[in-house]
Amino acid sequence: MKTPVLFDTLTRSDQPLTPDDGETFRFYCCGPTVYGPAHIGNFRTFLIQDVLRRVIEAGGVKTKHVRNITDVDDKTIRQSEAEGKSLNEFTAYWLERFHADCAALNLLPPHVEPSAVEHIPSQIHMIEQLIDKGHAYVADDGSVYYRVSSFERYGRLSNLQGREITTAGPGAAQSDDEYDRESAADFALWKAHKPEDGPNAWPSPWGDGRPGWHMECSAMSVEYLGDTFDLHGGGVDLIFPHHENEIAQSEAATGKPFARIWFHSAHLMVEGSKMSKSLGNLYTLEDVRAKGFDPMALRYVMISGHYRQSLNFTWDSLKAAQSALRRLQQLDADLARAADGQAVSGTTDWGPFEPVYDALADNLNTPDALGRLFTAMHEVERQLHGRTVGAEEAALLRSQFTQALNLFGFSLATDDQKAAPEEIQRLAQERWDAKQARDFARADELRTKVTEHGWTIRDAKDGYELVRS
Ligand code: AMP
Ligand code: ZN
Repeated sequence: MKTPVLFDTLTRSDQPLTPDDGETFRFYCCGPTVYGPAHIGNFRTFLIQDVLRRVIEAGGVKTKHVRNITDVDDKTIRQSEAEGKSLNEFTAYWLERFHADCAALNLLPPHVEPSAVEHIPSQIHMIEQLIDKGHAYVADDGSVYYRVSSFERYGRLSNLQGREITTAGPGAAQSDDEYDRESAADFALWKAHKPEDGPNAWPSPWGDGRPGWHMECSAMSVEYLGDTFDLHGGGVDLIFPHHENEIAQSEAATGKPFARIWFHSAHLMVEGSKMSKSLGNLYTLEDVRAKGFDPMALRYVMISGHYRQSLNFTWDSLKAAQSALRRLQQLDADLARAADGQAVSGTTDWGPFEPVYDALADNLNTPDALGRLFTAMHEVERQLHGRTVGAEEAALLRSQFTQALNLFGFSLATDDQKAAPEEIQRLAQERWDAKQARDFARADELRTKVTEHGWTIRDAKDGYELVRS
């Protein structure tokens, strides 16, 4: 089977995804900042990372996946203070919500999910190493800064030249209260306590404070994956300054190369514009569900475009995804019927679905892989309808089909077993009421809406039932 290759932001070339230690592919993904619900753009990135992991594992390689929880930063502190809650109580609530969303989207849980707050000592330790080696300095107020000029390779990942580094990105915007930096490019490793931080401060050799934004990922990735590991990922917005700073911190502290391969996914757009709170087009999984769509349809949409290109989310694309999923369910049901109770245990070869794996192994080409999935499905459907497929053969095909679906992380079972979403139930009830009131035009209109979302209303004498179409 082909070894998967992936475009590496650092070398700007395709690299094979083979584990450096010959055994386990170790990778780190920057996780959510838990100060509100994750939006569907965040989930695009997490879903693409999930497919990457599935492809590596399908190629027969074990993985170790670490994804952090950012539970101390400006946003979490500001919001918890505003709500009068302790930082812990506040972030625990949003973390739970994040986990529920991940489960609904069938994201594989990372093997380790370290929290920044629980790793303050490791972060302090790395800052001490950086000071000892001359890469960091303590300012008068007890903040610690990274001396960017001390790290020759700074800017390699983002391809920025010195002049741009000082003016680009959030680093520059911080300059107001960071006047005692030696250079505008220097960034905070440790932030001395300020009144607006409230009770959120931890003791350190430089006084009470909290780690800077980039420190947690450097310290925790090295702690769980070793000084050098296979891959590091996140959305493109993290290339600079976050990942550039992580490289500078980790490599200067350990003296070893940091992540070997850098994996960045392009952003999600909404109806042609950037997703943002102010434009009112920032959606969450809850919004998707409220409109009657299944989380699996969102997964489908999020991986329907190539990860290196930005993806335009539309409500119509969710509708199309929902019908595509119904076709998957249909084939699975047909194969189950033909298999007549027979099943194949364990993994098999890919059979007609091998081209699907190949497309994913080639720089995670999810749109091509989906195209190939449907081509293979078409062939299997043709066989099923055109001749008698024996139970054993059907069982094998079904298992190969399931394997292919697992590569994308599509779970068919959840859909069938779940009750209709709230919005569908509401529409169905409204339709029933309209019918009782003999407003048949309205009732038909509502029935069409329900059908469009993939549900069928079955009427009985004194009520109705909702079933998946
Ligand atoms: P955050 O919760 O802001 O720390 O972000 C979590 C992850 O989501 C990071 O990898 C970001 O790069 C990624 N991300 C943020 N916005 C988007 C977007 N619009 N599309 C895709 N990924 C995003
Ligand atoms: Zn990070």
